[in-house]
Parts: sequence; C-alpha cells; structure tokens
Amino acid sequence: MALTTAKHDAPEYSVRQIEVPASALSRLEPLIGVERYRALRTAAAQASRLLEGSTVWNVSSTAAGGGVAEMLQILVGYTLDANIDIRWLVMSGDPEFFAITKRIHNRLHGAAGDTGRLSANEKAHYENVTAANAGSMMSRVGRGDVVLLHDPQTAGMSAPLAEAGARVIWRCHIGREDENEWTEEAWSFLRPHLAPCDAYVFSLREYVPSWMDESKVRVIPPSIDPFSPKNQEMSAENVTLTLGRIGLLPGSGNGSPGLFTRGNGVSGRVERPAAILSEGGSPLRPEVPLVVQVSRWDRLKDMAGVMRGFAAGVPGRIGAHLALVGPSVADVADDPEGAQVYAECAAIWEDLPVEARRLVTLVTLPMEDIDENAAMVNAIQRHATVIVQKSLVEGFGLTVAEGMWKAKAVVASSIGGITAQIVPGTGILLEDSSDLTFFGATLVELLARPGEISALGARARQHVLESYVGDQHLVLFAQLIASLSR
Ligand code: UDP
Repeated sequence: MALTTAKHDAPEYSVRQIEVPASALSRLEPLIGVERYRALRTAAAQASRLLEGSTVWNVSSTAAGGGVAEMLQILVGYTLDANIDIRWLVMSGDPEFFAITKRIHNRLHGAAGDTGRLSANEKAHYENVTAANAGSMMSRVGRGDVVLLHDPQTAGMSAPLAEAGARVIWRCHIGREDENEWTEEAWSFLRPHLAPCDAYVFSLREYVPSWMDESKVRVIPPSIDPFSPKNQEMSAENVTLTLGRIGLLPGSGNGSPGLFTRGNGVSGRVERPAAILSEGGSPLRPEVPLVVQVSRWDRLKDMAGVMRGFAAGVPGRIGAHLALVGPSVADVADDPEGAQVYAECAAIWEDLPVEARRLVTLVTLPMEDIDENAAMVNAIQRHATVIVQKSLVEGFGLTVAEGMWKAKAVVASSIGGITAQIVPGTGILLEDSSDLTFFGATLVELLARPGEISALGARARQHVLESYVGDQHLVLFAQLIASLSR
C-alpha cells in the first residue's frame, strides 16, 4: 500500500450568529421612572435614525459564561426593540488561540497567567485566527455598519473590518488601574490591532492605557437587567424548588422543577442537576445562612482564597455554609484554565478538616441552556445571606451588581470596577483581599448582625437601580453611535 502525505488545509475559523429575542424597553419604565424612560426613548429614536440602513455587529468570543456574554444578551435584546438592526456573532479559534488570548487577558490584569510568551509565533497565530474570523464576516458587513469588537480575542479583526468600511469600536471589559511589566507586554501585543478602531470603550477610566488617543475613548460602565432570568424576581418557593432540583437543598432531584421566564418571554423550567462536590447528601440547609461566590473558574477570582478564608475563620464561630459556584468547566470555550482551576479548588477542598469540608460546597452548573443556567444562579444568589466577590483583580464584576440588586450584603475586594459599585453603606469592601484572616472575621461579624445585612442590602438595591440598570448603558451607547456618525 502506498503511503501518501495528506495535505491539510489550514482550519477555517468563522463567526456564528447567536439569536437573541427582543426585550421591550417599556418594561423598564415602572422601575426607572418617567424621566429616565423618556431619555432612553429619545436616545433610542436618535440612534435608530442615524443607523437606518446599517447593522450593528457585536463580536465576542463566547456565547455563555462570563460578564460579556451576560451583558450582550441584554443589550442586544433591548436594542432590537429600539428598531435597530443589531446582531451578535461569536468567533471561533483553536485551543492554542484561546491559550494566547487568556494569556493576554491575565496580563492586562497585571498577572503573568501561564509561563507562555507573546512573541512572533503567538502574534502570527493570533493574526491568522482573527483574520479568518473577520474574513467570514466580509460578505455580511456593509459600508457604514458599526462593529463592536469585545475584548482582546476579537481586536485582531479590526483592520479588515475597517477596510471594508465599517466603523469599528473596541470594547475592553477588563483592566487594571496601574501599569506593570505584564500590562505593558499585553498592550504592546494589542496596540497595532487597535489602531484602525474609531473608538474605544472601557468600564473604568483608570483602565485606559496612557498611550491611547483620548479623543476616541468613552467610559461606559456595564449594567444588569432586572428582568433577565439572572435577575428577575423569584418567589421563595421557586428558589427552594430550584435549589432542590439542582441538588443543593434537601428534596433534590425528583421534586418539581423551578420555574422562570426566558428572555423570549416563554416559561422555562430548571430541570438539570448541578455537579456538586460536598460531604454527604444535599449540602445546604434552609435555616443555615449561605455565603456564596459565583464566578468563572479563574485564578484571579480567587475561589481558593474564599474557601481557605471561610474554612479557617467561620466554622465553630458562627453557623454558615459556603458555596463556590461556577460554570461547568467543559463548557466555557474561551477560558482554557477553567478545568485546572476547578481541579485545584477540589484538591484544596479534599484537604480541609472534615468539619470545614461539611460546610463547603463546590458547584458547577450546566451550561447547555443559558437561561436555565441563569435561573440557577438567580436562585442561588437569592438564597444567599452574603454574596462574596473576593477577586484579586476585577474588570467590573457583574456578580456584585447582581447580588446588590437582590438586596444582599456583598463582601468584595476593594479593586477595579467593584469600587465603583460598592459605595459607602451599600456593601463591604475588603482593602486587602489577600488577608484571609480578616476576610473570615468580616464574614463572622457580618453574619452575627442580621439588621446590618438587611440595611446594606436595601441600600445596595437602590444604588444599583440608580446607577447600573441598563437604560443608562443604552443611552451612553446611543451617544457614542451619534458621535461616530458626525
Ligand atoms: N455566571 C453565570 N453562570 C456561572 C458563573 C457565572 O451565569 O456558572 C455569570 C455571573 O452571574 C455574571 C457573569 O457570569 O453575570 C460574570 O461576570 P463578571 O463581570 O462578574 O466576571 P467575568 O466573568 O466577566 O470576569
């Protein structure tokens, strides 16, 4: 038999479209009041006029798991209702590409991440993958369209899209207040790809690199949607049913499913179980206060530190459970470190003294159905007494706004976007999030004061209503579109 050398073509990377149902802007009016609603309608009408005949394209690297995907679901839905042709595309890449982009992500946050390099080979691979993705959009993108590229993964698509006549905006959802050798390396990698952009959007002014053309920069903080499956109101009964169904509360598995309303208005049911690492059966008890951190399995979220601080400081001092909750590690394609970080947390859990291990649960939530996943997070956050976000670095931290909206006491690191969200009296900021003893003591002190928990929660909800509900986000975007149209 003759052996032939197979000739492999380079893999074709392309974008795929995510379907998002329209959400009625009018739903916001009773919450935000007449004035804000009028401003929203005016901005929406102006943007719709300016964009007549054009399409707004969003390109991100994943459809699920993380703040960008969470926000796009909402913004795209509301923008559709404003009579604007807006689409959401998700790019593709191979594991090497996502290892490179995760490296850039970590380094923009000022951390090395892995030991890999960002040199000529990485540059070439990044450029090949992003060029292929941009190429797959060419037949669809027209002159005058607006393309919003989200985060470092997509920045390499800017040049071909700008050449095709699109107005290109790069939105950076991550960052760090001060520069160091890692941020400089990541910015040097990205900088040539950002030159063709018409505008840059950051969540915080402090994240804007010093070399960037200030006239092209806008600061637009993220937002939450009170009506999404993640944040919609949920009855206590539904919370209990949902937690029972996913296996966190007794009565698990066979009970009635929890109910929620999907983004498209259709009723949904929480059916799937979560994967739970705990000592014995259903790990939570309805009467025992729950401390929760919900995050991707990313070292910078410091799930391990939350576990260590809780285990060393809380058991024996006050009754409480801890749940560390994240997405199923198989399912977040653009986050190659997830499985490893989860495994590290599981190993730490195994090593805890048994009396602490009984009080700590690791939960990974199925991601097959994004609305169902969101409803699970919603139920867990609502069941919690205290919500933690003890990140080492944090771009914005939507989980903080989500917890605050649910009138929870939030204990979070005093860094990045978290400091913009927790203002005095609306939550507890940890000045030094690496001080685990202080973290444990803070939880004990707070859990002992239910009155303080309620007061913080009530003020937190009000603050989110004033500052982080989607209407202001949409108005700022409409203003950006208007400025690009001049
Ligand atoms: N999230 C989720 N399911 C999970 C874990 C996280 O829906 O299993 C969501 C979380 O509720 C929040 C988002 O992912 O909406 C995380 O956003 P954040 O800004 O806190 O962090 P990022 O992941 O963008 O760094």
